[in-house]
Amino acid sequence: MKTQPEHGRVLLVDDDAMIRMLAAESLRHAGFEVSEADCGEQALRVFEESPFDLMLLDVLMPGIDGYTVCERLRRHPRGQWLPILMLTGLNDSESIERAYRAGATDFITKPINWLLLTQRVRYGLRASHAIALVTHSQQRLAHAQRLARMGSWEWSIAEQRFSWSDELQQIFSGDWKLAGAATPERFLDMVRESDRATVGAARQALLFEGTAYQLTYGIDRPDATLCEVFEQAVAVRDGSGRIITIEGVTQDITERVEAQRRIQHMALHDGLTGLANRQFFSQLVEVELERSRRDKSACAILYLDIDHFKTVNDALGDAAGDQLLCTLAERLRAEVRGADLLALKPPMRTAEVVARIDGDAFTVLVLEVRAASHAALVAERLLKTISLPLLLGGSEIVLTASIGIAVFPRDGKTVETLWRHAEQAMYAAKATGPSTCHFFDKEMNAAASVKLGLENALRRAIGNDELRLHFQPKVDAGSGRLIGAEALVRWQHPQRGLLGPDQFIGLAEESGLIVALGDWVVTAAARQLRQWQDAGLPPLRLSINLASPSFLQEDIADRLDDALRRAGVSPGQLLLELTESLLMVDAESTIARLNRLREKGFGLSLDDFGTGYSSLSYLKRFPLDELKIDRSFITDVTLGDKDAAIALSVIELGRRFGMQVVAEGVETRAQAGFLLAHGCPIQQGYLYSPPIAADDFAALLRRGDRFDRGLLAQTAE
Ligand code: C2E
Ligand code: CA
Ligand code: CA
Repeated sequence: MKTQPEHGRVLLVDDDAMIRMLAAESLRHAGFEVSEADCGEQALRVFEESPFDLMLLDVLMPGIDGYTVCERLRRHPRGQWLPILMLTGLNDSESIERAYRAGATDFITKPINWLLLTQRVRYGLRASHAIALVTHSQQRLAHAQRLARMGSWEWSIAEQRFSWSDELQQIFSGDWKLAGAATPERFLDMVRESDRATVGAARQALLFEGTAYQLTYGIDRPDATLCEVFEQAVAVRDGSGRIITIEGVTQDITERVEAQRRIQHMALHDGLTGLANRQFFSQLVEVELERSRRDKSACAILYLDIDHFKTVNDALGDAAGDQLLCTLAERLRAEVRGADLLALKPPMRTAEVVARIDGDAFTVLVLEVRAASHAALVAERLLKTISLPLLLGGSEIVLTASIGIAVFPRDGKTVETLWRHAEQAMYAAKATGPSTCHFFDKEMNAAASVKLGLENALRRAIGNDELRLHFQPKVDAGSGRLIGAEALVRWQHPQRGLLGPDQFIGLAEESGLIVALGDWVVTAAARQLRQWQDAGLPPLRLSINLASPSFLQEDIADRLDDALRRAGVSPGQLLLELTESLLMVDAESTIARLNRLREKGFGLSLDDFGTGYSSLSYLKRFPLDELKIDRSFITDVTLGDKDAAIALSVIELGRRFGMQVVAEGVETRAQAGFLLAHGCPIQQGYLYSPPIAADDFAALLRRGDRFDRGLLAQTAE
C-alpha cells in the first residue's frame, strides 16, 4: 500500500538491520514513507539526493557516528530545521547531552517502544511543521516589509539597546553602518536638518510621556538621494505602567510623495507646454491680489492671444501647431522672469508669471507695477519675442500676437474681472492691428456685450442679404482711365446703419463666419459682373479680398470656378487679393494652390504688400499677377525716407518679376505724381474715389470719365 505523502518522509539510520526492519515496519504501518541507511555516510548521501521531513538517527555506528551526522546536517542548507530524533542507550545522560549539543531535536531511548516511536515521530513532524510556518511567516514579514518599503525598530530602555529590521537599514541607505554605532542619536542625525527638531521632540515626548506619534520627514542619505518617510511609533509599558520600550515603523514613501507631486504638477500645469494652467494662474493671482491689497501696490494681468493661430493650425496640422505653441511658450517663459520658481507652498514671489490658459491664449501676471507703462513695457517685450521668425519644417514663418492689459486695482478688484477685462482689451488690440497691446478701458465693457450680439446678428446678416459690396476704382494715373475696381464688403445693419469691414471682419474671422462671408462676396461679385456685362457696360476686372480660411479650403479653385460659372462670368474677370501672412504659412502647398487657381484663369494679387514677412525667394516662386503696396508706405512716400525706399523697391521688384504693381491709399496729387514718376501708374485711393455703391459705380463706368486728366502735367509743374 502506498503511504500518504502528507504523513511525512522519514529517513531511518541504524547499522542494526533488525532495528531498521522493525522500526520501518511500524512507521510504514502508521502511514509514513520510510527510507533506510545503514551508516552515517549513506545517511548523508541519501539526504543529499532527496528531501526528508524527519530523521531517526542512531548514535553509535561504525564509520562516522550519529553526532557527526547530526552536526553536518545542521550546517546543510536543507538540514537546519530538520527534526532529528537520536536513538540513544537508556538513561545514558551523557549521550543525551551530546545529542542535544550536536543539534538533535529530541531523543528516543533503546530498546525502542514501538508504539511510542510512531507517537514521537508524529510529534516531531508537527513541531517541524510549526517551525517551518514560523520561519515562513518571518520571511513573509520581511518580504512584506521589503515590498512596503517599511522598516521596524525598537528601543529597549532597560537594555539601552536599539534594534531594527533589515529593511530599515535599506531605507536609510545601504551603506548605513547602523551596526555598532546604532544609537537613537545616530538615528536622529540622519533626519533631514529641517525636520530634525520636530522628529526629536516627538521622540522625546514618546520616550518620557508615552505620547505616540505619526510623522512625515525627510532623510539625509549618505548618497544624497531623496527620501521621504512616514513614521509611526508607540510606547510599550510593563504591568506597572512604566515605559519599557518604544517601537516604531518607518516607511519609505518617496515614490508616493513623488507621484503626488507629479499629479499636483499635472493638475496645475498645461500638459503641452508645461506652463502654469488656468487654475494655477488664478490661484497665483488670488494670492498676489491679497498682497497687493495689503501693500497698496498694483499688479497687472496681460492677456496674450496669437493672431490667426487657427488659420495657421488648420494649414499646418495639429502636430505642427502644437510644436509652434511649445516654441512660443518657451519664448514667453524665457522672457518672463522667474516663472520657473513657481510654487504656491511655500509661496515664492516671482516678478512675472506666465500661463497657458487655452488654445493659443496665454496670460502673464506682472507684479509691482509702479506705472501702467511698466506693464506695457513687459507687453512690448513679449510681442517682440513672439514675432521673431520661427523655423518650421525648413520654412520660416512669422506669427504675431495681440495683448490686452488690465491693471489692479484700477481695472478690476477680482481675478475674474481683471481676467475678463484683459481679454476684452486683447480684442481691442486685435482690432488695432497685429503686434499691438491695448489697455482696458471702461467703454470696452459695453463693447464686449455688443460684440456677442453682433456675432449672432452677423450670422443672420449673411443669410438675410444685409451685406453690400462697394466698389473702389483702380485707375491708371498716366491716362486717367478706370481699369478695374476692388469690391469691399459693407453691412447694411437694420438699426446701426452702414457698417464698414473694420467693424465686423475681425469678428467674422474669430467666429469662423469669414468663410460664409467670403462665399457671399464671391457670389455677389460674380452676379454684379454679370449684371454690368448684361447692361452693356465696358468689361473690367474686379478684385475681391479672399481671407485665409477661404483660401485654405482644399477645393477653393473648384468652388470659385463653380460660383463664376453659375453667374456666367469667366474667372479671368476676377482678381483674388491674398495677404502675405497666409501664403507664408506653408509655402509649398500655397504654390500648388495658387497654380491651380491660375490654371482656372483667376488673377492673383498680393495685398498689403510690405507689411508681412515674405521672403523674396518665395515671392519669386509664387505665380502672382499683381503686388499691392500697402497704404502705410504710400502715406509718406513723398518724404523720400524709409517708406519711399520700400515703395520704390516694391515697384522695382514687380518690374523684375513681371508683376503689375498697384499703389493703394493714394490720397494726394503729390503721392500720385511721385508714384507715377517712379513707374507705378496703377493707383487706388481717395484721391480718385472712395469705395462707392454699385449703382454709383455703374454710373461712373457708363460715363467713361477720365480721372484727373493732366495729373502728371500738374505735378510736374
Ligand atoms: P484692404 O483690402 O486693404 O482694402 C482697402 C481699404 O483701404 C478699404 O477699407 C478702403 O476703403 C481703404 N482705402 C481706400 N483708399 C483709401 C485712401 O486713400 N485712404 C485711406 N485712409 N483708406 C483708403 P475698407 O473698405 O474699410 O476695408 C478694410 C479692410 O477690410 C480691407 O482692407 C480688407 O482687408 C477687409 N475687407 C474689405 N472687404 C472685404 C471682403 O469682402 N472680404 C474680406 N475678406 N475682407 C474684406
Ligand atoms: Ca484689398
Ligand atoms: Ca490692402
